[in-house]
Amino acid sequence: MKVISELKTALQNNQFYLHYQPIVDLASGKILHAEALLRWKKENGQLSLPVNFIEVAEDSGLIIEIGDWVFKQVCQFLKELAPINQNISIGINVSASQFNSNKHSALDWISHLEELGLTSSQIILEVTEYTMMNQNARVAQKIALLHKAGFKFAIDDFGTGYSSLSALRNFNFNYLKIDFSFTRQITHSKSDEALVRAMVTMGAGLGLHTIAEGVETEEQRQALLGVGCVLGQGYLFSRPVPGEDFIKLLRIPAANAG
Ligand code: C2E
Ligand code: CA
Ligand code: CA
Repeated sequence: MKVISELKTALQNNQFYLHYQPIVDLASGKILHAEALLRWKKENGQLSLPVNFIEVAEDSGLIIEIGDWVFKQVCQFLKELAPINQNISIGINVSASQFNSNKHSALDWISHLEELGLTSSQIILEVTEYTMMNQNARVAQKIALLHKAGFKFAIDDFGTGYSSLSALRNFNFNYLKIDFSFTRQITHSKSDEALVRAMVTMGAGLGLHTIAEGVETEEQRQALLGVGCVLGQGYLFSRPVPGEDFIKLLRIPAANAG
């Protein structure tokens, strides 16, 4: 109850902000996309990470309002990026309960983008297998509507859930994000390497771009390239950073030269 009331205050008092983590071409380090990650600076100045509050936000329904705020922030940031780079797409994490609620309007999202003169294909909606698994008619309809409107979709935390393959069969994703538990093991375990290779091959066969999460070491980068993975994100390249720092990263020639 305490967290719920704190979250409501957080929305009213602008205590949320976003960090952006670059998604790069593993071979060159060039920044191609970013993922928006939610941060909360509490009244007492303490930083809170999503793990501490997303679940409460989902269970209380506050995730709809928070998710709408995240979406609008990302649109604003895309607008800021437009003069610098119009090819960047930004990933937004969406929860099952968000799409499941009738308070969330996909049409509002579409018209918000239009009002700002942005292209929907610059937004990647990151959904987990769990979201796909719990698809009722409303969620399915919403996803189909956004897909038709040009939004891109990524399947997040791939390999950790139960329904990975059926989710891929039933829906045209654009990106497949390999969970960082596989990235972490790729240099230590032959079976993890084989699994990542299989995921990349399968992704390519389905026309998906594969992104490895949690790339922390040069060895992992090399191993990922070795199994044909093209895209990655992780501390090796950059931690999630404030928007203005992301723009600075974009301006570094080495990171952006291809
Ligand atoms: P996720 O979507 O799997 O996001 C990736 C998480 O890995 C982020 O944690 C990121 O900071 C972290 N990370 C990135 N690179 C590395 C690395 O090299 N090593 C390690 N150990 N970690 C790395 P974060 O920001 O704490 O977010 C955690 C989760 O919270 C996200 O997992 C996502 O599921 C959720 N989340 C974040 N922002 C939002 C949001 O706006 N809406 C919703 N619904 N969920 C969000
Ligand atoms: Ca994600
Ligand atoms: Ca993930």
